[in-house]
Amino acid sequence: MNIYLDHAATTPVRPEVLEAMLPYYSNIYGNASSTHGFGREARAAINASRDSIAESLGCRPGELMFTSGGTESDNTAIFGAAEALREKGRHIITSQIEHHAVLHACERLERLGYEVTYLPVNPAGLVSVEDVEQAIRPDTILITIMYVNNEVGTIQHIEAIGELARRHGVLFHTDAVQALGHVPLTLSELPVDLASFSAHKINGPKGIGALYIAPKVKISPLLYGGNQERKRRPGTENVAGIVGFAKALQIYGESMHELQQNLEKLRQVLVDGLESQLADSFVINGDPVHRSPHILNVSFPGVGTESMLMNLDLEGVAAASGSACTSGSLEVSHVLKAMRLPEEVTASAIRLSFGYGNTVEQMEEAVQKIATIVRRIRIK
Ligand SMILES: *Cc1c(COP(=O)(O)O)cnc(C)c1O
Repeated sequence: MNIYLDHAATTPVRPEVLEAMLPYYSNIYGNASSTHGFGREARAAINASRDSIAESLGCRPGELMFTSGGTESDNTAIFGAAEALREKGRHIITSQIEHHAVLHACERLERLGYEVTYLPVNPAGLVSVEDVEQAIRPDTILITIMYVNNEVGTIQHIEAIGELARRHGVLFHTDAVQALGHVPLTLSELPVDLASFSAHKINGPKGIGALYIAPKVKISPLLYGGNQERKRRPGTENVAGIVGFAKALQIYGESMHELQQNLEKLRQVLVDGLESQLADSFVINGDPVHRSPHILNVSFPGVGTESMLMNLDLEGVAAASGSACTSGSLEVSHVLKAMRLPEEVTASAIRLSFGYGNTVEQMEEAVQKIATIVRRIRIK
């Protein structure tokens, strides 16, 4: 039996989600911009989905713009703010542990003449609110700090950073892709101007996401074309994707508390199992308190990341070395590097992330397999 422990990379689509999407790949194929009946049917589906997602997120439907996913949402927020505010200033604040969709966008802005401050984190992966405050300058136009880190699960002090940004009149974006479904979100009450979301991390389809844009926030579009999404994101809408996104989020919303408790339990079974098998010869990376329950980043000093992942794969256990973008290369994770952990810890870290479909039995089996691999490799 294969065990999938890579839900932070992507998740399986729930059957209910697929079922909700199917009609939009068959009978309901109209272009939502068309005024005839076929088009109106597609438009109605988009409207209903947007309403439902807005209700889940605690914002108004008009504040949500659909995109092709987390990457596009991050890019739109960063380039959109940079362009719209370039007369006000060209300085941006972010952190060293952002997803590459943020980091590489910021690096591109640097090549375009902007200045970017990449804030460090503490060894638990937390950005200090004081560091953010000290980095703010008169020409700072945007602060972009992620909500939940995708490699270690650390939850940042988003409210405090957002309030700080408000006090200084600086736009605040958060990559909330890994927060969605895991952290209760009421956008209208959060001091956040822009927030990125993606459906495929919450058992929705790939290729659909959203950017929340708070009222009165003006950002330039990334794409030019038709009038879709209030001209902010042209292109014929991904109706099936939007419907699937809404369904996936609705399911999370209906049972968020139980889902989180279940994830916490799965995580605990893993941790307890590893403790009983390997005593204290492993290290958990990330913050013990400010963390999401769906990610466990753990190191087995002496057992290199790549050989652990390869051996686990042979045993049918799918895990990761942090971001999917860096796996396959031997590059050390930029997140663990920023946390300044000992070399033996960063060189042996793996990310186990869980969700829909995982069971306690699978966790117990995974522990056995990990422990066997650790013993085999350490003895050599
Ligand atoms: C997955 C992920 C993204 C990218 O989202 P896509 O929809 O895959 O483009 C961005 N940020 C974080 C934190 C992620 O985990």
